[in-house]
Amino acid sequence: MKVTLPDGSVKEYKDKVTLAQIAREISEGLYRNAVGGIVNGMLWDLERPIDFDCEIRIITKKDKEAPEFFRHTMAHIMAQAVMRIYGQENVRLGIGPTIENGFYYDFEILNGVIKEEDLEKIEKEMKKIIKEDLKIERFELSKDEAIKMMEEKGQIYKVELIKEIQDEKVSFYRQGEFVDLCRGPHLPRTGMIKHFKLLSVSGAYWRGSEKNPMLQRIYGTAFATKDELDNYLKMLEEAKKRDHRKLGPKLGLFFINTDVAAGMPIFLPKGATILNELMSFSRQLHKEYGYKEVMTPLIMNVKLWHQSGHWDHYKDNMYFTEKEETEYAVKPMNCPGHILIYKNDVVSYRDLPIRLFEFGKVHRYERSGVLHGLLRVRAFTQDDAHIFCRQDQIEEEVSSVVRLIDELYKPFGFTYRATLSTMPEDHMGDEETWEKATNALKKVLEDIKLDFDIAEGEGAFYGPKVDFHVKDSLGREWQCATIQLDFQMPERFDLKYVDKDGIEKRPVMIHTAKYGSLERFFGILIEHYAGAFPLWISPVQVLVLPVSDKYIDYARKVARFLSENNIRVEVDSRNETLGYKIREAQISKVPYMIIVGENEEKSGKISVRSRDGAEEKDVNVEEFVEVVRKAIAERR
Ligand SMILES: [Zn+2]
Ligand SMILES: [Zn+2]
Repeated sequence: MKVTLPDGSVKEYKDKVTLAQIAREISEGLYRNAVGGIVNGMLWDLERPIDFDCEIRIITKKDKEAPEFFRHTMAHIMAQAVMRIYGQENVRLGIGPTIENGFYYDFEILNGVIKEEDLEKIEKEMKKIIKEDLKIERFELSKDEAIKMMEEKGQIYKVELIKEIQDEKVSFYRQGEFVDLCRGPHLPRTGMIKHFKLLSVSGAYWRGSEKNPMLQRIYGTAFATKDELDNYLKMLEEAKKRDHRKLGPKLGLFFINTDVAAGMPIFLPKGATILNELMSFSRQLHKEYGYKEVMTPLIMNVKLWHQSGHWDHYKDNMYFTEKEETEYAVKPMNCPGHILIYKNDVVSYRDLPIRLFEFGKVHRYERSGVLHGLLRVRAFTQDDAHIFCRQDQIEEEVSSVVRLIDELYKPFGFTYRATLSTMPEDHMGDEETWEKATNALKKVLEDIKLDFDIAEGEGAFYGPKVDFHVKDSLGREWQCATIQLDFQMPERFDLKYVDKDGIEKRPVMIHTAKYGSLERFFGILIEHYAGAFPLWISPVQVLVLPVSDKYIDYARKVARFLSENNIRVEVDSRNETLGYKIREAQISKVPYMIIVGENEEKSGKISVRSRDGAEEKDVNVEEFVEVVRKAIAERR
């Protein structure tokens, strides 16, 4: 039996071997840090025997695959602790997977409920299990045996899961008295990971359906080192403070009335101001890059959506309405509208590329359980564009979109990473066309030297796509911009252009949104800046504070001058003390305060206080205006 290592060297074994054994042969250090490995592309337990030719890689605590091993093991340890506390017979287990940055497990507790304050007790029991350093063993049963065992334990949810497994054999993991149905992988012992924290408990329907019983889900997190865990907990604490669902209404930006318009945010004047700034920036860039802005209807006949394929692939997420015995759909995407514009004229090869752009309001149904502030909504505005071009123009067009996205993100200080998503299971068109489109996108990304990961099967139903994930000031990643290559819609809508040789040909369509959803981007910005927006998008850029009523006129005169210079300014003329007004201005995070009293009125100057606390007296108003205008023009 031959085992090939990552460096290409081959080890030979007569009988079975384990990754632990191989690691130890390589070095004692590697063995000590190993958590598992990859065998022929599959995640593999350290102690699980190998008896076939294979390629392997050992995974240590530092590798990016390591959390899958220790977080999943932590989920088992948590389930074991819960069963010890509430009694084996009273706990029915749901599922317990790893998620980004952590893990969860779903429980049905027959003799009570788990409350937030119980988490500490569960953590304590988990620490005990870790200290016991139990061996974690994998074993297999036939499906029938597996069902019988879980039925005897009263684990009805596990029985349901086993019945759906296609394979003949079902794998389990055992640690001490605890046994769980599980595909793995796991650490070899419970004592190998120590740095964890339980975060919250919430309700979760079995398999996400309202028709099923409500279980309780405990979320937790675990890291390889204490430092990493502490940093993560600190970040969570900070993120909680910045939660846009709290900051948004507090800063007077938006609110959501879940009673009449769940998932459909209502923007207040200050919020609308920021959105308008975001839009005008995007509009300006699109113009520079040769796009033409258009507007298309919100509601169109369903036959259009039959033709576009949305009916077949997207109906469940759409809203419908009816008049004069005709059925209409509220648009979930802007593409068909832009296709109508393309078809409105005869197009020659010389006209291409045609780049259409719209701030398109779309509505998409989402289950109420998944709605989340501005980040997951039912109604939103896309800075949506469609490029119709010849095949030989794809590369130039896609790289131009990437440049536009890069310029758009720059003022916000976002770095980003790209993923290339390939053909999903539910897709339109043949595989050959898909491959052509996917390779075309891949080539562009390689040519412009943009790093990317591959997301298998995550493409749109009509084509492969490149998504951009921006990193915010807390290091969290958010998917925003997207570029999608589409050979299907032009086919379905019989789009044509007349080529050089007089023959009609099919154009290619590129779908692209840059902010993605404006609402979502706004939500991300609120948390990214913790509400302290940069000057250029701040709803109130300067607040003028008269030290008393006597100086209101002078305050208004200064404000008028600023306003004439296109600076968003307000005067706080309320009958409150100066100290109170300054504190309120600080809470609302206004970039500049101008304070005027007797000295200022006499000299015709102002005192300026910036958000970071810097103060300056005897400032010339014209000079201040110049500084502010320059910063706004440079989008600072
Ligand atoms: Zn497991
Ligand atoms: Zn589109």
